[in-house]
Amino acid sequence: MRKFFVFACLFLLIGCSSSKDQLVMVTEAGFAPYEYYENDEIVGVDIEIAKEIANYMGKKLVVKDVYFDSIINELNSGKADMALAGMSITEERLEEVDFSYEYIKSRQVVIVRDGSNINDIKDIYNKKVAVQLGSVADQYFSDKYPNTSLVRQKKYLSMVEDLKANKVDLIVMDELPAKEIVSANNGLKIIDGYVFEDSYGIAVKKGNSELLKAINVVLERLISEGKIDEYVLRFTR
Ligand code: GLN
Repeated sequence: MRKFFVFACLFLLIGCSSSKDQLVMVTEAGFAPYEYYENDEIVGVDIEIAKEIANYMGKKLVVKDVYFDSIINELNSGKADMALAGMSITEERLEEVDFSYEYIKSRQVVIVRDGSNINDIKDIYNKKVAVQLGSVADQYFSDKYPNTSLVRQKKYLSMVEDLKANKVDLIVMDELPAKEIVSANNGLKIIDGYVFEDSYGIAVKKGNSELLKAINVVLERLISEGKIDEYVLRFTR
């Protein structure tokens, strides 16, 4: 019995101290240059920012890779502390989580096959469109263009496969990750113009103002020192 008690205390101690010393970031690591695998390690712009936040708080950063559409649940169930996932700040998401200052401006662009007859943003609405499940592109079409035929995928890689195999006509997604995909895959291109603009923020569980404050202090410094632009250059291939 005494042995068990000692064991239980030890377990509790390790359990507690580890969550106090750790800052758990959740992301979807198929989104270069923001977060992606290099060998077995997740690297990218968001990881550099998260490291700075962890440093500032004197904690060890832990990076957790999940599907994009489970990120909010990771925060709200307490499985992760903050989400850095090229995550756009939207009204709908603000009902579920709190966001930091915006730290990146982006645009939703259109990828097509070379030789496609889609040349203009206004041509995309009666086509077969691939989007990431739970993304702002998904929400945009679902809300505003319910008649557009949407194919929702969990991973951008699957969307690229579908586009190459003629299963969809185009992909709508964030600009820099789209550029990475086009430069890594022959036969694809981005058409002129963009569908809409968005900006990224770091999300935390609603009401976690202590963490949000620390995040905003670090973001303000990184932005004013030009660090975020530097990270974008560093991780753009
Ligand atoms: N910026 C887009 C969104 O927030 C896509 C993000 C992503 O796929 N990681 O929905």
